[in-house]
Amino acid sequence: MRAVVCQNAELRVEVLPEPEPGAGHALIKVLRCGICGSDLHMRHHCDAMKAMNARLGYDRLPGAADPVVFGHEICGEVLDYGPGSQRRIKPGTRVVAPPAVRHGAEVDLAGLSPRTTGGYAERMLLDELMLMPVPNGLSADMAALAEPMAVAWHAVRRAEVKRKDVAVVIGCGPVGLGVIAVLKARGVGRVIAADFSPGRRALAKACGADVVIDPREHSPYASWEEYGWLTSFDRALNMVVEVREKLGKLPLPWWAAWRLAEGLGAMPARPVVFECVGVPGVLGQIIAGAPLFSRIVVVGVCMQEDRIEPAIAIQKEVELRFVFGQTPLEYRDALHMIAEGKLNCAPMVTGVVGLDGVEGAFTALGDAEAHAKILIDPSQPGAAIARPGG
Ligand SMILES: [Zn+2]
Repeated sequence: MRAVVCQNAELRVEVLPEPEPGAGHALIKVLRCGICGSDLHMRHHCDAMKAMNARLGYDRLPGAADPVVFGHEICGEVLDYGPGSQRRIKPGTRVVAPPAVRHGAEVDLAGLSPRTTGGYAERMLLDELMLMPVPNGLSADMAALAEPMAVAWHAVRRAEVKRKDVAVVIGCGPVGLGVIAVLKARGVGRVIAADFSPGRRALAKACGADVVIDPREHSPYASWEEYGWLTSFDRALNMVVEVREKLGKLPLPWWAAWRLAEGLGAMPARPVVFECVGVPGVLGQIIAGAPLFSRIVVVGVCMQEDRIEPAIAIQKEVELRFVFGQTPLEYRDALHMIAEGKLNCAPMVTGVVGLDGVEGAFTALGDAEAHAKILIDPSQPGAAIARPGG
């Protein structure tokens, strides 16, 4: 079968032996596979990622010298199963699945493993346990978004955003666009999105952002007065004194009134800020720029060491949450929300490419103006990037 192999940072199309399904493995014909930002990073930094994962107790990532077939955002069709499989889903069914594939007691991540090839190929193996049928005749293009949208769904769930909260999304690449679509699906009233690229800002608008901001011109936190955010320590000190004074005028002791107000959840308004850029310095900028008490949810994966100034975060009492991946339940929920038309994520797909065009697509994804998410269709001939749905 044809596949795109990455080795020593080079991508080339090769003819590989057919994948051989073992017990519990489904053989899948790949219909679409999304190119993920982490694939772009892995191409050049396999060794660093492998070393980092080894420190986390996971030692099955490829090194730079290992030939690897990327691709973990998969929509495919079941062709067959390995001997001794349960075969619950009929061959011919269109499916998606998280890429966790068992080999005995070891779990590989398809597309991030020297042993288990990913979706940049005509065929691949998935674990039959993980398969989810695609509902409602959903297109393969949209079904392939189940994985990145599940990541966004997980991030927003972990953020515990309320409908009345103002959410600020910093960075409108595929991760930020997914977060915007999920926030609007969850009924969050005001979503502010910031990105330097006009093209990305247009996509943010299309995915449902209420306000889009060019950070060169405005701070995403500029409307702090309108939203009741505290942006200076001086203002916070004044507020403490003002509240104490007000409560002192009530007929009950001030401390009883204060306790009552706390019990009712009274506290200054604060935004929930999603860091969806993932390059060094951005988290520090957000901590420095965000209002007091902000909740900062880190979704963008910064793979280098980074610096923050804890004293600023401390004095502002900002809350930091780091989120990663998704659960099978979140994956299923994202798939069904897409199929029911509840997630406005179609605008993020900007191109579809065949296997011969993957290297060009990696280059094209380097230009934020040109592309956000490119899907691979292994049956598409040639190297040109086609319009989605075309
Ligand atoms: Zn991904």
